[in-house]
Amino acid sequence: MAFDLDMIQRVYANLGKRVEAARQAVGKPLTLSEKILYSHLFGGETTQAFERGKAYVDFAPDRVAMQDATAQMALLQFMQAGRPQVAVPSTVHCDHLIQAEVGAVEDLDIAKNKNKEVYDFLASISNKYGIGFWKPGAGIIHQVVIENYAFPGGMMIGTDSHTPNAGGLGMIAIGVGGADACDVMAGLAWELKMPKLIGIKLTGKLSGWASAKDVILRVAGILTVKGGTGCIVEYFGEGAESLSATGKGTICNMGAEIGATTSIFAYDEKMADYLRATSRADIADAANAVKADLRADEEVYADPASYYDQLIEINLSELEPHINGPFTPDLAWPLSNFAKAVKENNWPAKLDVGLIGSCTNSSYEDMTRSASVAAQATAKNLKTKAEFTVTPGSELVRFTAERDGLLTTFEEIGGVVLANACGPCIGQWARHMDDPTRKNSIITSFNRNFAKRNDGNASTHAFVASPEIVTALAIAGDLTFNPMTDTLTNEAGEQVKLDEPQGIEQPLNGYAVDDAGYQAPAEDGSGVQVLVSPTSDRLQLLAPFAPWEGTDIKGLKLLIKAKGKCTTDHISMAGPWLKYRGHLDNISNNMLIGAVNFYNEKTNTVKNQLTGEYGEVPAVQRAYKAAGIGSIVVGDENYGEGSSREHAAMEPRFLGVRAILVRSFARIHETNLKKQGMLALTFANPADYDKIQEDDVIDIDGLTEFAPGRPLEIVLHHADGSTDEFPVNHTYNEGQIEWFKAGAALNIIRMKQNA
Ligand code: SF4
Repeated sequence: MAFDLDMIQRVYANLGKRVEAARQAVGKPLTLSEKILYSHLFGGETTQAFERGKAYVDFAPDRVAMQDATAQMALLQFMQAGRPQVAVPSTVHCDHLIQAEVGAVEDLDIAKNKNKEVYDFLASISNKYGIGFWKPGAGIIHQVVIENYAFPGGMMIGTDSHTPNAGGLGMIAIGVGGADACDVMAGLAWELKMPKLIGIKLTGKLSGWASAKDVILRVAGILTVKGGTGCIVEYFGEGAESLSATGKGTICNMGAEIGATTSIFAYDEKMADYLRATSRADIADAANAVKADLRADEEVYADPASYYDQLIEINLSELEPHINGPFTPDLAWPLSNFAKAVKENNWPAKLDVGLIGSCTNSSYEDMTRSASVAAQATAKNLKTKAEFTVTPGSELVRFTAERDGLLTTFEEIGGVVLANACGPCIGQWARHMDDPTRKNSIITSFNRNFAKRNDGNASTHAFVASPEIVTALAIAGDLTFNPMTDTLTNEAGEQVKLDEPQGIEQPLNGYAVDDAGYQAPAEDGSGVQVLVSPTSDRLQLLAPFAPWEGTDIKGLKLLIKAKGKCTTDHISMAGPWLKYRGHLDNISNNMLIGAVNFYNEKTNTVKNQLTGEYGEVPAVQRAYKAAGIGSIVVGDENYGEGSSREHAAMEPRFLGVRAILVRSFARIHETNLKKQGMLALTFANPADYDKIQEDDVIDIDGLTEFAPGRPLEIVLHHADGSTDEFPVNHTYNEGQIEWFKAGAALNIIRMKQNA
């Protein structure tokens, strides 16, 4: 990938001077995260320090990765920018839409058929705009990225929460929404609040059944699902250097489960080994030349408490294997306490299914450690009691594991090898159950275990552990089995014990693959046509949003006054709607259907002011749109919290809502609204929320003098003829006001391209 090496060399060429400038600006030695962040400022070198947890900073990531579900809208939006090519190297990965039902080959065929129009669209748009395309079956985004694109000291964004997996190769890798990916591909800055830093010092060395997965399972227990919010978790210490790069990747991957912005390890020999093993010796050589800047300054390691906002220490030599769950990844149980917890909580002790692999745990090392356990079942005459599935993270791993006999070892104990895709991890899984609502237990080596995540059944108790522990428990078919202390009865009635797992970090004969599933884009894509059928119900080309009309906005109807929590899920529900992610008109039929109407306390029932009748929110809004009337949505505190899903901002914009007026916004949603050309307003006096009445007609005044820091004015015309007026605040800066005036941020880029 020569293209990448050029880009990486450019990053390294600037690294030293940018780090030194940052050191001067900050006025003290720097952590690794600070070195990478400051060397990726959108404006280049800095003379300014940014306060952690406070300052909003513009960054210039090196690369973008997108999975197939989120890529659709990101790329449809990118087309609006009018650029001939993406501004930074970008890739698309077809992994989320493959259902696990029978086995790899059959499932992949079915998926290719079922999702043909989506895959054709993604392949053609990638080809046109210079984006690398990883076909269905090539692997899961994060495994493919760590094998091919992650590099020490780099910065990337990805449209998936587990993008931080690339931190295993020393990269700041952050999960974002499609709108952010679109901005970076279009050449815009990417904004992030300067994260706080959590330092985790790893001492000692893993042994026996303990693995890298247990580090993050333990960390999740300490920090809980919220403990990493707004923070980068930086691992260091001799224990960190003893972990393989892919083990580090597992730890960083699951940093998402503690809410961390991302997680990272410093560049070391293990990373160099992995780069060389995956045909990237040139990158290892380039990294070696700048390695002092690919780790924190020595003063930081000598006195970490002075440099990190929070410090945790874990001794790997004492770390027990952990099992976390059910229903939340931060309920952490050391293996020795787990059987007791199962009994005391009355969780189903019988294990139905053990699932290994996924983007979290499907390295060659994971496969060999699990296979060393599986092989013992055969050798010791044990019959595997639970169902057992294996999800390789990439074709490179799958092919190599097959060549080395590992997949056969799994199959010999009844394992079913699934497609190199997300499958059961994202609920794309057909369970073979007598009663699909039955209370039951499963254990996975994946990362998430919220209720219904894997199979849609709220009674499925999902636990998370390392793949070797999952394999051992699948053999036992019993959640209370502790492979470190307990024996199993074999087919001959003898008591046998499983030995500790043995793993190999890199394949002795190297990695091998026949067809990795990569499709390079055309050098010149100008003649390539983007394939979207006009009759498709899953994909729809976007039309630019109209610019502001240049006047105050009068006569808006109140669409809904939402009461209490209104997350992006309430605004644009997930679940069955996911399949319409690439079709703005169709997915808009879920707009605000989860929001509670203040006036009747019901969801999806609002008054249509044109008829006086109550109807579903999207239908009422469509009636206003058809009548050429705009509307306004009123909300409460922290409106739009949750995911960064841009659909939650695009849908109201598309259906003709002109403004969202709330007590307060979740910041990402507020920014998303601004990007789509919407007005995102907050009550100057939160009590004015109470003045809004169900039949109100509303004006927004002051737009002709719209300026940063200057409030706008709301006028309510009540049904009884009375009026109320009050000021509303906004946080638009000059550039964002231009977005509003142009109708959307992308309209500005397109105008510049055409100028
Ligand atoms: Fe997300 Fe699971 Fe797929 Fe990983 S395997 S990318 S966690 S859905």
